[in-house]
Amino acid sequence: MRAALMYGAGDLRVEDVPDARLVEPTDAVIRIKRACICGSDLWPYNLMKPGDGPRPMGHESIGVVEEIGRDVRTLKRGDVVIMPFAFSDGTCAFCHEGLHTSCLHGGFFGNSEVGGAQAEALRVPQADGTLFPITTTADEALLASLLTLSDVMGTGHHAAVVARVARGKAAAVIGDGAVGLCGVIAAKRLGAEQIIIMGRHADRIALAKSFGATDVVSERGEAAAERVRELTGGMGVHSVLECVGTEASIETALGIVRDGGAVGRVGVPHYEGIPSAKPMFYSNITVGGGPAPVRGYIDELLPDILEGRIQPGRVFDSITDIEGVPAGYKAMNDRKAIKVMVTP
Ligand SMILES: [Zn+2]
Repeated sequence: MRAALMYGAGDLRVEDVPDARLVEPTDAVIRIKRACICGSDLWPYNLMKPGDGPRPMGHESIGVVEEIGRDVRTLKRGDVVIMPFAFSDGTCAFCHEGLHTSCLHGGFFGNSEVGGAQAEALRVPQADGTLFPITTTADEALLASLLTLSDVMGTGHHAAVVARVARGKAAAVIGDGAVGLCGVIAAKRLGAEQIIIMGRHADRIALAKSFGATDVVSERGEAAAERVRELTGGMGVHSVLECVGTEASIETALGIVRDGGAVGRVGVPHYEGIPSAKPMFYSNITVGGGPAPVRGYIDELLPDILEGRIQPGRVFDSITDIEGVPAGYKAMNDRKAIKVMVTP
């Protein structure tokens, strides 16, 4: 089968690899119907050392169940399923607490142990707990929105939940990538009255506004923080959705959150420590977040998608087959595409 492999920074190849197959009795093999390229895939695309590859890529998909292991109980061949970016058994203590990304028998897709979703097929461990069956649909826009439940919509929602977005409050979203844009949807959905998008790409900002952003801040660094304070009567925002993960973005987050507020981090951190421990203490600021337990959020978000109240699938502005995946990485890295869908 064909699959995308990262060999090193800037070196993404589509190659023939052995077909995905069952290993454990709790596995399923799915045929990938839709996958995508994630903003987090751009970190290795820019930084990976040649010796660390080749690494199978891709952790978001909608698939069709092709084979099931003998212990799989809830799925059958032909089921259409959403595949969250982490696998989980759905039965352990953490899964019961809704923190599927800490599952005692869980792990992440997009690595040599499990394989990746930017491929024609994929082995899914803990299939019963991981895969979420949906009704098949021929509606492409709806399919695109359902695909975001495997990562970006659930991740934007997680940022909003951790940042304690609430009705009538002010929120700021740092980052205008697909997760940030879904963060705007999530903040609006949870009732934020003011939603400030921080970014500087015209196409993304236009989309953010159509998702419910009320203000745009395109400055950087201290100038950005000053602008947010101006927009909030000098107070700062109650909630910051930090969807980037750089040192500059966490500094900005702490520069714009008001006393008693919260920062929800979902951008994979590429910094050593969180700055400003002392001012954070005296201002009663909470910093939380991590990999989003998107499996646990599907039940809550799915009805809003099916009934058309939210349309996160609009973050996809480009589509390619498996052979076009390297060009898709380049387009996202050059900010020429917001998010690329893959149809293997
Ligand atoms: Zn578990």
